[in-house]
Amino acid sequence: MQMNPGLTGLRCIRCASLWPPGDYPEGCPSCLSAGHPATLECRYEAVGGSAMPLPVLNPITLGEGGTPCLAAPDLAQAEGVGQLWLKCESANPTGSHKDRMAAQLVSRAYLAGARRVAAASSGNAGVSIAAYCAAAGLQADIAITHHCPPLQRQAMERFGASLRAFEDSLARWPYVENLCRNEGAFAGTNYLNPPVGTHPYGVEGYKPIAQEILDAGAMPTDIIVPTARGDLLWGIFLGWQHLHETGRIAHMPRLHAIEPYARLSQAIATGDARGQWEAATEQYSIAGGTCTLQSLEALARSGGSPVEVSDAAATQAQQRLHRRGISAELSSAAALAAVAQLRHAGVLDAESSVVLMVTSDGRRG
Ligand SMILES: [Zn+2]
Repeated sequence: MQMNPGLTGLRCIRCASLWPPGDYPEGCPSCLSAGHPATLECRYEAVGGSAMPLPVLNPITLGEGGTPCLAAPDLAQAEGVGQLWLKCESANPTGSHKDRMAAQLVSRAYLAGARRVAAASSGNAGVSIAAYCAAAGLQADIAITHHCPPLQRQAMERFGASLRAFEDSLARWPYVENLCRNEGAFAGTNYLNPPVGTHPYGVEGYKPIAQEILDAGAMPTDIIVPTARGDLLWGIFLGWQHLHETGRIAHMPRLHAIEPYARLSQAIATGDARGQWEAATEQYSIAGGTCTLQSLEALARSGGSPVEVSDAAATQAQQRLHRRGISAELSSAAALAAVAQLRHAGVLDAESSVVLMVTSDGRRG
């Protein structure tokens, strides 16, 4: 395990300033002091070969990645689109896409000499970080809410994580902030409010998803991604951007972000990602009243849009997926409900080739 020597630095997605390789859990220092938390994007030396560059080479692994990308012609026909694929991230070791991020992030924490990783999680991220910390011999401190599903809470405990439960999503962040700023913990998630994306080295772990989709024979026009603070959305964008910059694809697919209630659409309307738009939802993996600049950038740069999916529509889509043998947590099933909405809005048509990110089945850990 070592840092990639080809990693030359990081660039701010807001002000384009360049920073040397290192740990920036609060994003761009300049933009933060100006009151605009902004993600940094990893930059690499141009190298030959087709491999997707990642920050940590030979990271700690539990076998993440390489998940199935299933063609679903029946769903494509039912929805009136050309092709439809399901990228099944529940096949990852702890049952969600978060394992890809945890592999890079916990490996970096280990290489940086940290002994503990602190994170705020609605469930999936906490399970994943707990597992990878166990594999690396690091302590995991996870701040959860009282709404965290028991199965996931138990999984974190089995992996030896130390848990602290809070009343709501926002209350977790000061706890994690204190551990990271004062107690030597490595940041496993955001802790700022307004928030910023997770450590850029972790988010890079999502890039191979783009390659895997392409390798499965799908060249999508549109990808639908359940989104809270937008790490997955942005990481997938970075993957397609790499494929585009290296000439592997002619056009970027559009990325669309599912949200359980209007956050991104409101942020787009005001041009400011820093608002609070709290509302109740059963889609706990993408709950919370905040969004991030990286989400806005992924949508704007790819030409995609936010899609508001109600719990009722997500539940109906979940039942449809169950009836064809696919287990998906509510926020993942919402991706299928989003297809009908985008089709109705004229964003998708009979020629569209659509990938749904099925981020988790919510059953494991
Ligand atoms: Zn900046």
